[in-house]
Order: sequence, then structure tokens, then C-alpha cells
Amino acid sequence: RERQLDNLKDRQTETTDGREIILSANVEFKHEFPLVEASGAAGIGLFRTEFYLLGKGEIPSEDNQYHVYAEAASITQPHQAIIRTLDAGGDKLPAEPLPEPEPNPFLGWRGIRVSLTRIGMFKEQLRAILRASAHGRLGVMFPLVSGISELMKAKSILQECMDELDSEGTPYDPGIEVGMMIEVPSAAIMANEFAKEVDFFSIGTNDLIQYTVAVDRINKHVSKLYKPTNPAVIRLIKMTIEAANKHGIWTGVCGEMASDLELTPLLIGLGVDELSVGTHQLPRIKKAIRSLSHAECATIADEALRCRFSSDILALTKGLAQRSY
Ligand code: PEP
Ligand code: MG
Repeated sequence: RERQLDNLKDRQTETTDGREIILSANVEFKHEFPLVEASGAAGIGLFRTEFYLLGKGEIPSEDNQYHVYAEAASITQPHQAIIRTLDAGGDKLPAEPLPEPEPNPFLGWRGIRVSLTRIGMFKEQLRAILRASAHGRLGVMFPLVSGISELMKAKSILQECMDELDSEGTPYDPGIEVGMMIEVPSAAIMANEFAKEVDFFSIGTNDLIQYTVAVDRINKHVSKLYKPTNPAVIRLIKMTIEAANKHGIWTGVCGEMASDLELTPLLIGLGVDELSVGTHQLPRIKKAIRSLSHAECATIADEALRCRFSSDILALTKGLAQRSY
């Protein structure tokens, strides 16, 4: 069985009726880079840089970061590697020791909010990503964006870094794709506006679910309420994809939901262009996509969008998964 999955490594990821899905890898550490190609992934859909940046107590220098991102760019060629800027805070390490603990860390100083208040650190990361983009196809993505002004600020800082590199004569890819995570309900609701400002969306379902239904993703007392098939979550995903399609940009899913074989039919049916999953799970997801009909997925997704209960949505997608693989 493992050998069977291994044989799929170099095969395209498309449904039985020819809809291509970009299937890329989530990585957190440099030592995972060799697994990307070995898993058969089409590049890196999410490099969570916080573990690399915060793991050693001191944030690595711009040069050090440049080498790591350049390696990501070169090992994924000809595919893309999407580098997500620091997502500190929440359940992850803070960017710096805080004078007092935050009462609600998930609603606090995390993601892009940290980067926009530590601009020196943010610029070092952006410059490193831009410099590395001279070595392959990179994308840059901002986490936890909740409003347009945050995105505009992040983009203007990115532009400032580009201007600096231009005046130094340092090479970078001026066509680097700039995207954002859709992981806060306000971003999904405003997707039509955000879509005018970015090249792609990547839906972070881990956070999108917890913020939509107000359920802490790591609190066992309420974990029963944490369901990726919650009808409100499914509608937000649909709104995001529709807004992206309207503006000609692509949408991926990089949260855990993308790694759940029972949910693959639903995500394909809702119209995602990309799924980004852990390298360990990737071959199984590839096999699943290759055995699904996009038309059948779309039919159950339409039905799912009319459901009132998570359990009904789960039954629809699970049913098609069981019939197909
Ligand atoms: C997510 O929220 O789904 C996501 C991919 O980001 P993280 O899990 O790193 O918060
Ligand atoms: Mg997240």
C-alpha cells in the first residue's frame, strides 16, 4: 500500500474529470524540506516561520533567514514556496517576553498585529523573503489579517523593502505573489474587498473555525463544538472562494481541515484551487483527489450549503469519500 502511494509521487493531482488541484506541503522546519519533494507535493503552501524564528530565543538575522528562504525556493522549483510571515502569539511563542500575560492570547497580540508593531523585525523578514525570491518562485503571505487597513499597511512596508532593494541594486522577483490568510471571520466576510489587494487567499481553518464559533481550538471542554463542517464555517469558505473567483485570484486551504480525507470531497466541491497539507498525509490526499469526480463533489457541496447541521454536512462528504475511495 505504501508502495502504491509512492508510485503516485510524480503524478499530477487532478480529479477523475480533469480538475487540477495544487497539492502542496505545510512545513515548519528546514529539516522538513527534503520531505516536500519526496512526498510528491507541488511546492510549499505554508512555511510557518514562527518555529524557526522563535525557536532559538533570538530571531535569526536577515542573512540567516535569507539562506533558509532561498533554500525553500530552490528545493521546490519549478513549484512555488509560500513563506508566511511571523505568526507569533496566540498558542505559539510570543515574539518577545510580555510584561504581563495576555488575558485572551488568541484575541491578543498575534500574527500580523505583532509584525505591524515591530516594524524593524518585520522588514528584516520581508527583505530576506524578497532577496530569496531571486532563487525560485516564492510567495509571501500575511497571517491573522482582520481588516483592510492592516493589509494595506503590510503591503506598504513590503513596497518600502522593495524600494530599498532597488536602490541597493539587490535582486528580487518583482512579481512575487502576495497573499493573505483567511482565518478571521471579518476577513472572510470582507473577502470581496481583500481580493482586490492580493494574489491569493489561503484559508486557515484552524483559526477560522475557532473564531467563527467562539471555541478555543485547544480547550478540551468545548472541543465537541469545534467542527470543520459547522455550516457557518462552510458558508464563510464558500464566500471566500466566490470572492476570489470574481477577482481572478486563487484560493487554498492550509488548515488541518485540508488533511482530513473525509472532508476532501467537500473542499473540492466548494471550489478550492489548492490544498496544503503535512508531508506525511500528502500521498493519501493525492490518492483521494485522484479518485474523486469534481462534478460529484460540487453536487454534495451545493447540498451542504443548504444544511443546518454539521452532522448532515459531514454525512454528505463522508458518504462521497466512502463511495470514491
Ligand atoms: C490555521 O489557522 O488554519 C493555520 C494554518 O495557521 P496556524 O495553524 O499556524 O495558526
Ligand atoms: Mg492560523
